[in-house]
Amino acid sequence: MDFARRGVMLVIASPSGAGKSSISRALFAQDPNIRLSVSVTTRPRRTDEIHGTHYYFIDVAEFERMRDQGELLEWAEVHGNFYGTPRAKVEERLSAGKDILFDIDYQGTLQLYENCREDMATVFILPPSIAELRTRLERRAQDSVGTIEKRLRNARKEMDHYSEYDFVLVNEDLEQSVQMVRSILAGARLSRKRQTGLDAFVRDLQDQITIPS
Ligand code: 5GP
Repeated sequence: MDFARRGVMLVIASPSGAGKSSISRALFAQDPNIRLSVSVTTRPRRTDEIHGTHYYFIDVAEFERMRDQGELLEWAEVHGNFYGTPRAKVEERLSAGKDILFDIDYQGTLQLYENCREDMATVFILPPSIAELRTRLERRAQDSVGTIEKRLRNARKEMDHYSEYDFVLVNEDLEQSVQMVRSILAGARLSRKRQTGLDAFVRDLQDQITIPS
């Protein structure tokens, strides 16, 4: 059975190296109904980036207009550039029963809580140990030793915020973690308040039972 339903805003957060990106990639590969949120940014487009796929690239005046008119669900300034989540695009997808994945930090998550708590399910991913986190960061090999140490120090700070999330999972095994996130999403999709087609279905069930007068 598939009723009309409102989409889920799924937020996945983790310290860098805990496996958020791998889990998200696997989720997209297995489930065409969930897509990454596309933000607006004032950062210049990199050559391999596509407008509307990676970001919507806009100028500062347009960003400020959107922010001041309440068209952004959350926003942040990172390294001198502005980034934000456009309200209209999110609403469009949710009303169409499609889910959105957000890869944002705890500050973005807290802003989203203020604007759309009812639509959200949030997951915090922890590494099984710091030794394992260090190994994963080293395996990436794209970071210098200094950067790895910096990421570890950041991880310590980011882990302070695990208690702000609805679900917390320890990523020991990628496949198992993906399954768990899929279960969280499945549960969120079934929440009564999201199943907007339920009323009509229940009424139809009731109408099929004739009560003798
Ligand atoms: P980049 O310029 O490398 O694509 O992203 C820089 C930083 O901006 C990343 O840490 C990324 O998570 C953050 N970022 C990207 N989009 C958004 C957004 O819509 N909202 C917030 N709060 N941060 C974002």
